[in-house]
Amino acid sequence: MDLFDLPATPTITEMSWPTRIVLGPGALARLPAQMERLGMKRPLVVTDPGVVKAGIAERVHALLASAGLRFSRFEDVNANPTDRDAAAGLAAFRAGGCDGLVAIGGGSSLDAAKLVQVLTTHEPPLSRYDDAAGGDRFLKDDMPPLIAVPTTAGTGSEVGRSGVAILPDTGRKTVIFSPFLMPKAAICDPELTVNLPPHLTAATGMDAFTHCLEAYVARGFHPLADAVAIDGIRRVARSLPVAFHAPADLAARTDMMIAAMQGAMAFQKGLGASHALAHALTPITGLHHGLANAVVLPAVMEFNRAAATARLARVAEAMGEDGRTDDASLAAAAIARVRQLTAELGLPPRLRDAGVREDDLPRIAHKAFEDASHQTNPRPCGEADLLAIVRAAF
Ligand SMILES: [Zn+2]
Repeated sequence: MDLFDLPATPTITEMSWPTRIVLGPGALARLPAQMERLGMKRPLVVTDPGVVKAGIAERVHALLASAGLRFSRFEDVNANPTDRDAAAGLAAFRAGGCDGLVAIGGGSSLDAAKLVQVLTTHEPPLSRYDDAAGGDRFLKDDMPPLIAVPTTAGTGSEVGRSGVAILPDTGRKTVIFSPFLMPKAAICDPELTVNLPPHLTAATGMDAFTHCLEAYVARGFHPLADAVAIDGIRRVARSLPVAFHAPADLAARTDMMIAAMQGAMAFQKGLGASHALAHALTPITGLHHGLANAVVLPAVMEFNRAAATARLARVAEAMGEDGRTDDASLAAAAIARVRQLTAELGLPPRLRDAGVREDDLPRIAHKAFEDASHQTNPRPCGEADLLAIVRAAF
């Protein structure tokens, strides 16, 4: 077995980096042990209607009950959490006399749980903690512990330091960022992702890919993030098409869970124009976050090509491109590879194919410019640049 490859028989592995990670098929069974380690006796289980419908919430309830643990539930998280989700979750936390949180789901449930976590010990409104306005300085390390149980391989929120919400006083996807928001444990059980519909496997997987790619080419020096990001790109390129075509392939699902975590670990370094645009596209057009990234990413790479040629060349190599030697043609190949990947996943090639209206593009560019994500884009971009990119993607 290659040192960097998956074991032939996937098994449960525990790692600290710096989140305690329990990874592997069946890892969910270790949830009660992680709760015990953290002294959590009465959790609020935060999830969304999709996870309930998939029967995963029920499995968690049964597991907790069989371990003799009492818990409260908050199961109404919206696809794109708002301040209302956070307030309702906080009410459930207080009513249940809870001492911690277990979040089960994709990015939405994990983000909502982090917002509830903030409100348990911090004054509202949540907009006070907006990262774009330096709000992280108001966050203190006094919040109850959170255990994350992802049911998608995308946001990597299970090892991330940010919670994202659409807030009425900012009118956009607002990022709340602090090391104190990192879950105390992540239970990454690939079996929980096998029933994900293929279009969601594709969209969430492309979110993980965009995290890795944007972090890798982002401005700034962060060799740890770079190493993790380029490995994540390699994993997505080899395993996302497999997970899409063969949903029950546990090796590919495990690989995607690793890549999702790698994306979130790497984007401590920064993101780029794709995420700035995606953070505007979702509230304005309702487009899924991962899908929004997948559709705008090739146009962003094109915009960055001259400023990040060598980095984009390494991306092409990680995606399996060989036979070319000069960085300029490799960078062009990286863009072609990404287009090819999204086509294989059945994702729309242009924003117009995804139902976005041309009239909305200036507003999208304006909101994207307000988002902090583009500040680390390898080529500086103003509002006019963001508009040109979003027009190219249209
Ligand atoms: Zn993302």
